[in-house]
Amino acid sequence: MAKKEFKAEVDKLLKLIIHSLYSHNEIFLRELISNAGDALDKMKFLNLTDEAFKHEQFEGRIDIYLNEKEKSLIISDNGIGMDENDLNENLGKIAHSGTKLFAEKLTGDAQKDSNLIGQFGVGFYSVFMVAHNVEVISRKAGSDKAFKWTSDGQSGYTVEDAQRDAHGTTIICHLNDEHVEYAQQYRVTSLIEKYSNFIAFPIFLHYEEQ
Ligand code: ADP
Ligand code: MG
Repeated sequence: MAKKEFKAEVDKLLKLIIHSLYSHNEIFLRELISNAGDALDKMKFLNLTDEAFKHEQFEGRIDIYLNEKEKSLIISDNGIGMDENDLNENLGKIAHSGTKLFAEKLTGDAQKDSNLIGQFGVGFYSVFMVAHNVEVISRKAGSDKAFKWTSDGQSGYTVEDAQRDAHGTTIICHLNDEHVEYAQQYRVTSLIEKYSNFIAFPIFLHYEEQ
């Protein structure tokens, strides 16, 4: 399986995000929740408007699974999903508006830059502030094929065939040792409360009692 390089701009952005936003690293969850919400909005729209998807009884939802022992946080949605091309286009380069603008506005001054967080979507890559490895397993609505994107956020990424029962996206975050708090129920519960205001779909939290 060939490893693909991030576009040069992604490399730069990753470093900028990690350095300037580190003290606000909890926002990675806001970004993942907001992406899941966007994917659910798109699926809902297809379901309502597109003949090919009207038969589905669509009930959009987000599920978050915590495992403190394995230091993992998994966020899963049954939204529109991504195919192989989408994974390359959306997670391999900075094509989307929020992140690109944000990158342009970054000054390198932590104080100033931290004020930008609220104004721009920082995006998917902020997950690499808290995770040393991320797997994105996705299946696009209308397709029966699933793919897995994997990256350490430094040395590029790989995309390979995978399994997924239905359309949607599952993101497995392997947390850094110093960020296990994001596998803890009390911490994640309060973040969900803080960051789910604009999400029109229910979020379910799953965890093992310690
Ligand atoms: P933005 O949300 O501003 O576009 P992100 O970096 O947050 O930027 O996400 C990049 C892109 O990756 C999104 O625009 C979307 O196409 C895709 N993406 C990310 N997460 C998901 C998801 N859970 N389901 C489907 N697509 C996703
Ligand atoms: Mg986003």
